[in-house]
Amino acid sequence: MQNIKGLLSEIPERISDLPELAYNSWWSWHPEARMLFKMLNRPEWKLSVHNPVKMLMNTDTTILEKATKDQKFLRHYDAVITRFHEDMKTNTGWFPENITSSEDSFLAFFSAEYGLHHSLPFYAGGLGFLAGDLVKESSDLGIPLVAIGFMYPEGYLQQRINPDGWQLDENENIERENAPISRVLDTKGKHRIIKVPFIEPSIYVEVWKVQVGRVELYLMDTDIDENDPWNRSITSHLYIGNPEQRLRQEIVLGIGGTEVLKQLGKQHSVLHLNEGHTVFAILERIREKVASGMSFDDAFEQTRSTTIFTTHTPVPAGNDVIPFPFMEKYFSSYWPSLGLNRDSFLALGVDPKDPKAGFNMTAFGLKGSLYHNGVSKRHGAVARKMWHSLWPEVPEQKVPIDSITNGIHVPTWIEPRMQFLFNHYLGADWINEHDNPEIWELIDDIPDQELWQTHYWLKNKLVLRMMERARQRWMNDQPDPRIILASGVLLDPNVLTLGFARRFATYKRATLIFQDMERLRKILCDRWKPVQIIFAGKAHPADDQGKLLLQQVFNAAKDASFGGRIAFVEDYDEQLAQYLTHGVDVWVNNPLPPYEACGTSGMKASLNGVPHLSILDGWWIEGYNGKNGWVFGKKDEEHRDVDDANALYHSLEQDIIPLFYQVDDDGIPHNWIQVMKEAIKSTAAIFSARRMMKEYTSKFYQPALQNASNIQIHSKTIDR
Ligand SMILES: *Cc1c(COP(=O)(O)O)cnc(C)c1O
Repeated sequence: MQNIKGLLSEIPERISDLPELAYNSWWSWHPEARMLFKMLNRPEWKLSVHNPVKMLMNTDTTILEKATKDQKFLRHYDAVITRFHEDMKTNTGWFPENITSSEDSFLAFFSAEYGLHHSLPFYAGGLGFLAGDLVKESSDLGIPLVAIGFMYPEGYLQQRINPDGWQLDENENIERENAPISRVLDTKGKHRIIKVPFIEPSIYVEVWKVQVGRVELYLMDTDIDENDPWNRSITSHLYIGNPEQRLRQEIVLGIGGTEVLKQLGKQHSVLHLNEGHTVFAILERIREKVASGMSFDDAFEQTRSTTIFTTHTPVPAGNDVIPFPFMEKYFSSYWPSLGLNRDSFLALGVDPKDPKAGFNMTAFGLKGSLYHNGVSKRHGAVARKMWHSLWPEVPEQKVPIDSITNGIHVPTWIEPRMQFLFNHYLGADWINEHDNPEIWELIDDIPDQELWQTHYWLKNKLVLRMMERARQRWMNDQPDPRIILASGVLLDPNVLTLGFARRFATYKRATLIFQDMERLRKILCDRWKPVQIIFAGKAHPADDQGKLLLQQVFNAAKDASFGGRIAFVEDYDEQLAQYLTHGVDVWVNNPLPPYEACGTSGMKASLNGVPHLSILDGWWIEGYNGKNGWVFGKKDEEHRDVDDANALYHSLEQDIIPLFYQVDDDGIPHNWIQVMKEAIKSTAAIFSARRMMKEYTSKFYQPALQNASNIQIHSKTIDR
């Protein structure tokens, strides 16, 4: 890999493993590795916004030379590198070996987005973080998986709010050379370029790689000279609005992605497809089998028995439907290679509920996979209802769509100081056994005072961080002072703090708490028991509805009568999500049921002792136990928003505010801390990505790999 070599020539021998570490995002979930980079060059670490590749490139030789003589640095370096190399060994001993007899007992995971770290901005929201956490956990558990997706050169949507509260979308282009991604080269040392097969006119992709611990993630980029401008922009940013370009994106992901893995020699026998954008991978797998002489029906059946499809949303707009004319335009050269004609090809994506609508990607994903799931128990049931039309012969409860509830990658989302506290009371090895519910009983051993101090420190850190951001904004742009006031400079770390941060999708109802402004004002501006709320989140650039909601929130933050107790922080990303989910007192969630398929930010908060105040939807139906947070909301469909808002106020007024401010003689709110402890204890193990990946393995990966192995044994017997 060119980049590593380029860096290596400058790095002194004694610390020559630094570039390899910088190019492996393993560092992102190991605080000791992040500390190593920080120790080396703190100003550049900050300036690069925690991108070790950029930092190393901008680090003077004198600093590097000095580091080779710094005993403290070298001791830390040796410890981190030893641990790193230890972790990179392929077998962790957990994933069952010899599940199949062949060397291609590999899974390929396809996803349109990956949320790994703020230095790798290839995500929009929850779906991306789920994919990123899944890849990291696969590395930790030694699951033999290779992942594929897109490098979005304009991946970074920088959010700026104008004085009227309107979101301005500014793209910040990625500097490819400085990003923690490396080029995949061909035998001549040139950047590898691959053609998307059978699709006319031709599309070419360039391939990049992110090493995620043991797992390789390949990212495709169409912004290259081989493509005309229309093709170059296919991967420019996430979820392009133009329907034809969106189709071309999905063609590149499924069909191009399969070809990339084949050309790189990443033989995989099982597919795991994350959401409908990826499902053309099924077609390409069938095509390869038909090309080797199999009938379409056999090829389809073999592919189906080795494919896993995860659906993520019950929101109709979240399920892509491609107009038939576009399908014809791009696939008329493709369907003959499957041995199909136009009608039989288009029929693959028909949703019987609405056969004329177009090619439904989710319907095709469900038909083309033997194993499929929703992402929480409730979402499983919703998906069975939604897709009953595909299995009309069975009653709704028997529709074969299972559920595996999402989980978060614990080493990524635990705050280091909280981790340190847990190390002390749960045993230093807790992080390696975190999906064992028993170890979490030990949370009760943490003295209330210590947990409270740690939490207060994190809350203070969040408030100071917001002030610092406001100061920078004030100095750089000198905007309308109300913008600065709205961004949190009047926050007080002693005040009960609610957090609400997520994409501004309509169903998430960001403005619910503003239903009754008078009642809200009373709650927030109480003289003795005040409350403050911190909002963050981006609206999709094409979503004016979402931008209007954001404007309403921002205007409330600007409104002097709320006294600065409402703040809106710009540019919600992974880093800000860490600050917010660790530093507020309560995490608020009020989607319109049943549209929150799972939700994961509340899990991040609970893990760090920030209890969840939520409508009963998604994971919270499974997570809530009566003492680890709060529920609110009515079943009444008609006056839903009004009733839900009243229930939210009621819960704050009657339960949450009194409990928070009920401080005992020693100055500590012991009853509140009881809820914090219960939140950690009852959610950390169950809603971990480790539990999730063990479930994917036993329910889907193992049987699918077994099917793949049987197919291979069978075809070998026929060959003889
Ligand atoms: C976790 C996370 C999300 C997903 O949050 P939800 O509650 O599931 O909507 C979105 N964006 C960022 C930056 C996150 O960290």
